[in-house]
Amino acid sequence: MKPLSIYIHIPFCQKKCYYCDFPSYADKENLIEVYVKALKKEIELYADQAAAYEIQTVFIGGGTPSVLQGQQLEEITSTLYKYYSLSKEVEVSIEANPGLLNIEKLKSYYHSGINRLSMGLQACQDHLLRNLGRIHRYQDFEKNLDEARKVGFNNINVDLMFGLPNQTMGEWHASLKKVVDLQVPHISAYSLIIEEDTPFEAWMEEGKIHKLQEEVELQMYHDVISYLKHQGYLHYEISNFAKPNHLCKHNITYWKNQQYLGFGAAAHSYFHEKRFYNCKEVEVYIRKVTENTKPVENSTLLSVRDEISETMFLGLRMMEGIAIGDFKKRFGESPFEVYGKTLEKLKKQQLIIYNDDHIKLTTKGIDLANMVFQEMLLD
Ligand code: SF4
Repeated sequence: MKPLSIYIHIPFCQKKCYYCDFPSYADKENLIEVYVKALKKEIELYADQAAAYEIQTVFIGGGTPSVLQGQQLEEITSTLYKYYSLSKEVEVSIEANPGLLNIEKLKSYYHSGINRLSMGLQACQDHLLRNLGRIHRYQDFEKNLDEARKVGFNNINVDLMFGLPNQTMGEWHASLKKVVDLQVPHISAYSLIIEEDTPFEAWMEEGKIHKLQEEVELQMYHDVISYLKHQGYLHYEISNFAKPNHLCKHNITYWKNQQYLGFGAAAHSYFHEKRFYNCKEVEVYIRKVTENTKPVENSTLLSVRDEISETMFLGLRMMEGIAIGDFKKRFGESPFEVYGKTLEKLKKQQLIIYNDDHIKLTTKGIDLANMVFQEMLLD
């Protein structure tokens, strides 16, 4: 059977964080029950198309999936198990926010087959968490982490953010050190992006908050790389670090540009050479699925050149880079044949290196990755 991954979107949050532009809502909790029903229906609607596939990874993201009760998550996962063939080694992740977890929920997640927990900690200093609009405090995280381990979770990720307004280098190091000392096996470290139409954007324009200087932010990024490497973590993707055997299999399917189906409002899919996404409005999503209609809002059939571009810029996010043999097998020609002098130019600029097996970013290329990705777009 061919491999496939599944993403399930839960578009509810208890409160909107000030920097967030993800498709999630803080005032629609009354819809959760009927949304779960619709999700189960949508999962069922795709079962025939996915019959020839074996599910390798499932990722339940959001929003805040941990706003759901354990029973509701069990209903979603059992629908998957009923209609899809799952690999024996399937990785099933859930994103969870500290403060919304408790031992009962965690037990029920674990018993429903969820075997990886991704916790949105962001920082270990309560004043920074407050400034971000997060609902939790640091102690909530430690308590939930302890409970998760007692229940049986050992494949755990923690998200951290750097480049926050007023964040000092010392605070960034302290956050990293705390998470490392707690022996968390996977860390995602992202810099703050000021997104359009968020309170952070408005406050920046009004001069109420200031982004850190670019050099300081870059220093924070370089520090996380050297510190985590020194602590035995593998830097395997631009923003991701893992202890051996704890790499996130689901995200690797994205970076390797492999197929996945997304369920839920605003969920994206890449399936049968098409990229498509569902309508964003929860009410419209529920109505369409209830009427037995797939809630797809937009669908694009990709040309081979589109797929090549995507495979290159997604694959270069991984430190191991693009495996030339795999690329040739998939597209019938090598990246050197497709990109000609572009790769040579990037190599001369010391942004990439390559040999007969792999093409990958250099240290300089990681800092200037967006510039390299731009060059991978084919007309
Ligand atoms: S918890 Fe996550 S999805 Fe929800 S508002 Fe905050 S950043 Fe956005």
